[in-house]
Amino acid sequence: MIPIAKPYLNQEDAQAAYDVIMSGWITQGPRVQEFEEKFAAYTGAKHAVAVSNCTTGLHLAMIVAGIGSGDEVICPSMSYIATANSIMYVGAKPVFAEVHPETYNLDVADAEQRITSKTKAILLVHQIGMPADIDAFRALCDKHNLVLIEDAACAAGSSYKGKKIGSHSDLVCFSFHPRKVISTGDGGMVTTNNEAFSERMKLLRQHGMSVNAGARHGATKIIFEDHLEVAYNYRMTDIQAAVGIKQLEKLDWIVEERRTIAKRYLTELADIACIRLPKEESGYFTNWQSFSIYIKPEAPLSRNELMQALLDNGVASRRGVMTSHRETAYKDYCKGLSLPQTEDACDRSIIIPLFVPMSSEDITAVIQMLRSLLFS
Ligand SMILES: *Cc1c(COP(=O)(O)O)cnc(C)c1O
Repeated sequence: MIPIAKPYLNQEDAQAAYDVIMSGWITQGPRVQEFEEKFAAYTGAKHAVAVSNCTTGLHLAMIVAGIGSGDEVICPSMSYIATANSIMYVGAKPVFAEVHPETYNLDVADAEQRITSKTKAILLVHQIGMPADIDAFRALCDKHNLVLIEDAACAAGSSYKGKKIGSHSDLVCFSFHPRKVISTGDGGMVTTNNEAFSERMKLLRQHGMSVNAGARHGATKIIFEDHLEVAYNYRMTDIQAAVGIKQLEKLDWIVEERRTIAKRYLTELADIACIRLPKEESGYFTNWQSFSIYIKPEAPLSRNELMQALLDNGVASRRGVMTSHRETAYKDYCKGLSLPQTEDACDRSIIIPLFVPMSSEDITAVIQMLRSLLFS
């Protein structure tokens, strides 16, 4: 069986976790700070704030951006459901906009049409690692006085116009779930150039505590902490951070390996007329967190038949990115909402295996299987 994905973890990552455990300081501490500094340097952002996962990072981003009850935030329905949920957490309303049929990234014109007097922000998603057109959304946000927030859960190691994702705007949220390109088990990071945002997120992730644990332990005089506001426990542990530091050192190599595999798919599946392959336009550099193909209506098999046939032949696949507005949690909220482009993209696409290391034989097997099923 060829799996859909696998995290790339090795002995070095395990050793890093071991060392932290043996040190006796296992939750947020020196390793978290080191991971933040290294992640900020890697992306080119001034600050990085480590959190328990990307969803909690998005929640903090909403809070520091000042989004609250009654506000509207435009985002794609086609995304992992956490994107929309993070807007709900602060009492605001996700307003789902359409995606572009070829990149699955948010459609600028459609997003603009949905702006009202209540719109406060746009939550952009870099779909399965492919950067969205940040400049176009920046211009739209400036024109309408909106905050731009990036859900870069899948986009660590991707670049837009020559700069790493994480450096372009003030609230960029990353995930280190095992399904992403690098992993800490669970984990997340928010990058920002805004020092006030960084400080407030650091407060909010740790119960609003005025003195951090490191300062308390290092103090020679007794200190009592105060809790400045009702906040959260969204900490990353030092065990996770130590793994993250080692993963980050490998990130560019992992991305290069993924790009080599994707290049074979793009070349060796190019002549199958009944599918549409993803496109990486100039100025866009994807980490290929996932590789999605669109099955056109004229294909000899339906999307689901193709997925079953692949499974029968030992190749795992997944449906493309989900739609949030058709999930039970959003059914009532979205009653009557129709997003034809989004629904078609979700219903007709599949994600095929791509992981590191993936043997040349496995890559060939996936290609051969798709060719034999789709050319018949
Ligand atoms: C994975 C993912 C998330 C959630 O990340 P967690 O770290 O699991 O909370 C949010 N948004 C998108 C687009 C994702 O792919």
